[in-house]
Amino acid sequence: MTGLVLDGKTLAKQIESELAARVEKLIAHSGGKVPVLATILVGEDPASVTYVRMKSNACKRVGMESIRALLPEGSTTGQVLAEIDKLNADPGVHGILIQHPIPKPVEERLCFDRIDPAKDVDGVTCMGFGRMAMGEEAYGSATPAGIMRLLSHYKIPLEGIHAVVVGRSPILGKPMALMLLNANATVTICHSKTKNLAEVVRQGDLVVGAVGKPEFIRGDWIKPGAVVVDAGYNEGNVGDIELSAVVEKCSAYTPVPGGVGPMTIAMLIAQTVDAAEKAMA
Ligand code: NAP
Repeated sequence: MTGLVLDGKTLAKQIESELAARVEKLIAHSGGKVPVLATILVGEDPASVTYVRMKSNACKRVGMESIRALLPEGSTTGQVLAEIDKLNADPGVHGILIQHPIPKPVEERLCFDRIDPAKDVDGVTCMGFGRMAMGEEAYGSATPAGIMRLLSHYKIPLEGIHAVVVGRSPILGKPMALMLLNANATVTICHSKTKNLAEVVRQGDLVVGAVGKPEFIRGDWIKPGAVVVDAGYNEGNVGDIELSAVVEKCSAYTPVPGGVGPMTIAMLIAQTVDAAEKAMA
């Protein structure tokens, strides 16, 4: 059995074309106002620079604008907060993205939580997380929201399954687990202190790899027939799961690249369009 490919690249393209139509309508109905995503990048980490550029390019593809605030490495928390305050107060800005990770000495959590919840289109504030966890309306963290959209597109059943999420970061593992819980999965969250990790992963009907270590989750940890979601992206185009050893025995999997990555960007843009529609209503 070869697993079904959960093709995030193709789905993200479809979502973008739907978004382009919504943006066109919004511009026409608002007398020419264009939805705007503001990105804040602190420092010049090459991966972060690339991610911000990819997000700006996606804005262009759907007819939105993006503005970039570039702050030098070594910026203080106060300087980043001042930039966020400026963007929060600007009615022409509909969504704010701070590229993670923010280099020290900046306190990332303080910065995330300064974003106006109405503009938190990347779903990083405690308020947004809490509302999502409670099943209230909120912008979900973009990567797990993209995974949920992909699973839903391919009609992967979640109710009653045992989902094992490896990783508990605030932007990925933790919100992923809560979204799966809200979809009525039985969820186990693993992290660096988890004992007998391989045994726990083997119980998963669905496994999400969100560790940040290349092919850390080995093929023989995956139960035959499981659904495999690899959220990791490491140098050399490899994820956090040994996918080459999994594709022949799983029921479905996200490729790397072309699985979770494009869905993350699509969700960010979709949530910015949502925010712009609300702001311009
Ligand atoms: P992170 O903040 O570094 O979190 C990594 C998590 O993995 C932590 O919860 C950590 O546990 C856990 N972990 C580390 N070593 C472990 C071990 N030996 N056993 C079990 N768990 C372990 O990383 P992240 O931001 O969540 O990102 C994870 C991956 O997703 C990375 O590859 C990243 O590139 C990728 N990512 C992709 C996208 C996308 O759009 N495709 C977006 C975001 C992230 P502790 O909490 O105990 O330390």
